[in-house]
Amino acid sequence: MGSDKGRTKPQHSAGKEQCILCGRLTEMAKKRPISKREHYIEGAGQLCRKCYQELYVPKHNANVVQLASQNISDKWFS
Ligand SMILES: [Zn+2]
Repeated sequence: MGSDKGRTKPQHSAGKEQCILCGRLTEMAKKRPISKREHYIEGAGQLCRKCYQELYVPKHNANVVQLASQNISDKWFS
């Protein structure tokens, strides 16, 4: 045992993790191993899908858009 430390959150969420940002109940069971979780930020906690996407997708998109626009801007804007 040792994966069960740090349980300081209130236990009123019916066995599901709450999003650390918006506090909404996620679909992620607390029993689920962190290694098998989606939208989990190590050292921070569980995010709901929406917050995770808001945190991470814009960064990736920004990079992709930057790269893409450099390559396709001639075709795209002409
Ligand atoms: Zn959230």
